[in-house]
Amino acid sequence: MENIKELDAQYIAHTYARFPLEIVSGKGSLVYDENGKEYIDLGTGIAVNSFGVADDEWIAAVTAQLAKVQHMSNLYYTEPCAVLAKMLCEKSGMKKVFFGNSGAEANEGIIKAARKYAAEKKGPEYYTIITLRNSFHGRTLTTLAATGQDKFHQLFTPLTPGFAYADANDLEGLKKLAAEVKPAGILIECVQGEGGVLPLTAEFVRGIAELCAAEDIVFMVDEVQTGNGRTGKCYAYQNFGVLPDAVSTAKGLGGGLPIGAVMLGEKLQDVFGPGDHGSTFGGNPIACAGAISVLSRIDERLLELVRRKSAYIFSSLNGAEGIESVAGMGLMIGIKTVKPAGEVVKVCMDKGVLCLTAKDKVRLLPALNIPQELLEKAIGVIKEVCK
Ligand SMILES: *Cc1c(COP(=O)(O)O)cnc(C)c1O
Repeated sequence: MENIKELDAQYIAHTYARFPLEIVSGKGSLVYDENGKEYIDLGTGIAVNSFGVADDEWIAAVTAQLAKVQHMSNLYYTEPCAVLAKMLCEKSGMKKVFFGNSGAEANEGIIKAARKYAAEKKGPEYYTIITLRNSFHGRTLTTLAATGQDKFHQLFTPLTPGFAYADANDLEGLKKLAAEVKPAGILIECVQGEGGVLPLTAEFVRGIAELCAAEDIVFMVDEVQTGNGRTGKCYAYQNFGVLPDAVSTAKGLGGGLPIGAVMLGEKLQDVFGPGDHGSTFGGNPIACAGAISVLSRIDERLLELVRRKSAYIFSSLNGAEGIESVAGMGLMIGIKTVKPAGEVVKVCMDKGVLCLTAKDKVRLLPALNIPQELLEKAIGVIKEVCK
C-alpha cells in the first residue's frame, strides 16, 4: 500500500482525492482491503458494478467472450454488440443504438444527434442545447459545457459554444429560455446525481416532454448514472411516464467494463449516416458481453426488489437522529446529515461501510442485488455514525 501510494503520487496526474484504502478483492457487495478487512460496498465504483464485485454470471459471460474474440473494430460484425443493441431498444423504447466507451462520450453522441436533426429539420441556427443548472454531463469540453455548474468550467474556457442553462423544476423559466435561444434539444438527468441526488418533479419532466413534442425540440435524457435499473425502473424516465427522443447511458450497463450507449428514438433513428460518428473501441465484444449479462437480469422481478430495498432505506433513515433528509429514487440515495458528509463517509469506512458523497450529501449507490441483511447491517452503521 505505501509503495502504491508513492507510485500514485509520483506518476498519476493529481485529479483524484483518493481514500487511503486499497481494495484487492471482493464478492458481490463485500470487498476486502490489503489487510483482509471486510467492507460492505454501497458505492459500487460509482454505480458501475450493478451486480457487485466478481459476479459469477458476469465473469462467465466476459471470459467466454474473451476466449472467442476480444476486438475486431466496427469494420466487421460481431454478435454481442448486435444482441445488446436489440436488448437496449426493447428495454428503453428507443430504436437505434450507437456504442461508445463512457458516459461523456454517450452524451457527446446524443448532442451530435440532436444538432444534426435540428440543423437538417429547422436550420443550422437551431444548435443550442438547453441543460439544467446543477447538472453533470461529463468532463470533455462539450459535456463540461453541458454541465450547468460554473466550478467545472473555470480555466477550461472557451468551452463548446451553444449551451444555455435553466433552473431545475422551473418549467416557466425553461419555456422562456426555449423561446429565446432557438434550441436543438433539451438535456436532463431525471435525478441529478453528482448535483446531490435531486430528483426532478414529475410535472417538470412531463412539461419538458410536452414542450419538446410541440416544438419539435429533441428531448434528451442523460441516464448515465440513473440507467439500467438504478432507480427501480430500467430507465429513470420510465418513472415519469415519458419517452425521450434520445437517451445516453453508461456506468451500470457494463457491470465494470467501459461502455456507453447513445440510444436514438423514433424521431432520430436515421439521423446518423455513414461517417457521421464513430469509435474504435465502441461496441467492443467483451464490454458488450458483460453488458448483456447485466441487462438480461434487469427484469421486473429484480426491479421490484430494488424498489423494496429503496423503500427500506428511506423508512429506516427518514427521521433518524442526525439525519435531516433523504432524497433520491430506487437505489440512488442522497442523505443530508447533520455532521459533514465527508466526515460521515470517513467514519463509515473505518467501521467497514463504503459510501460516497454528492455535494453536501452522503450518497448510496449499492449493488442492485445487495442482500437485504448486508443492506440492513450497513444502514445500521450509517445511522450509528450519523448520531
Ligand atoms: C458519471 C456521469 C457522466 C460521465 O460519465 P463518464 O463515464 O465519467 O464519462 C455523465 N453524466 C452523468 C449523469 C453521470 O453521472
